[in-house]
Amino acid sequence: SAKNAGKARWRLFSPEMEAARQETASIERGLDQALAKDQFVLHYQPITDLETGRVTSREALLRWYSPERGWTSPDLFIPVAEQTGQIREIGAWVLERACREAAAWPDGARVAVNVSPRQLGGGVLPDLVLSALLRSGLPVDRLELEITETTLLGGDAATLTDLRVLREMGVRIALDDFGVGFSSLAHVRTFPFDRIKIDGSFVRDAVQRPECRAVVGVIAALGRRLGVATVAEGVETAEQLALVREEGCSEVQGYLIGRPAPLSQDGRPDAAADLARPRRGAA
Ligand code: C2E
Ligand code: MG
Ligand code: MG
Ligand code: MG
Repeated sequence: SAKNAGKARWRLFSPEMEAARQETASIERGLDQALAKDQFVLHYQPITDLETGRVTSREALLRWYSPERGWTSPDLFIPVAEQTGQIREIGAWVLERACREAAAWPDGARVAVNVSPRQLGGGVLPDLVLSALLRSGLPVDRLELEITETTLLGGDAATLTDLRVLREMGVRIALDDFGVGFSSLAHVRTFPFDRIKIDGSFVRDAVQRPECRAVVGVIAALGRRLGVATVAEGVETAEQLALVREEGCSEVQGYLIGRPAPLSQDGRPDAAADLARPRRGAA
């Protein structure tokens, strides 16, 4: 341990770093037990089509509660799970559960599942997807996988092969958090995505900052040129909603439309997420 490592080491590890290391270790230990102890649950957040006002899909967002730690944010535990490789087992659980739950939705909306880089390569994910679809009875065109730009940064052939196989199976592939990575535009030619999700940071600042608004508009235009949907993430206010609509985004996701929420006891998603549309003619 660091204690035994000699005096020189103490200069390298500040108290903050030591605390962070212990936190990571605590999360890793907790995650080891989480599946066996049934501590995960999926919440779902609606993604709504601006044209029709209807929910087209719901994103599965993983939630973890342990008696030892309480609720831990995915922004904390997902990076640990990715680092340790635990994400493979956890991700397989998410996929299986999301397909099973979505298969029972009365409105037939798609389900979007986040996939980490370490789940790709070697053909494992296509196999898991196939068995999750078969077991759940979910039609393949109701499954969407979200990957971030970092997944493509490694850019290895095995990752791209898995993505191609999945897409040929009929699974939709979305590029998540678009715009924040290095060379975002380059990824558009690396792989034929079915949809692009504009990172919430642009949407959040677009009302105040013309340059952020411009990014939203340019990505929406890119989507139209490519013939793919563009989803504005992180829409929290009516002003932001109006703005992304004007800029030509095709779908929206955010607290304004619906927060991530658990399914009801009988497995139904939150129904209140269709956008209220100005009705012409109707009472
Ligand atoms: P993400 O995939 O970009 O998911 C969107 C995040 O934005 C979610 O955070 C969601 O709750 C949050 N969000 C949605 N609408 C709004 C809004 O209007 N305002 C704000 N401020 N935030 C909003 P969450 O659930 O904490 O998840 C964080 C990240 O953790 C996700 O980002 C995703 O990268 C990762 N994650 C979550 N579940 C999974 C999973 O099952 N597998 C993997 N690999 N990653 C996951
Ligand atoms: Mg996502
Ligand atoms: Mg996102
Ligand atoms: Mg994100």
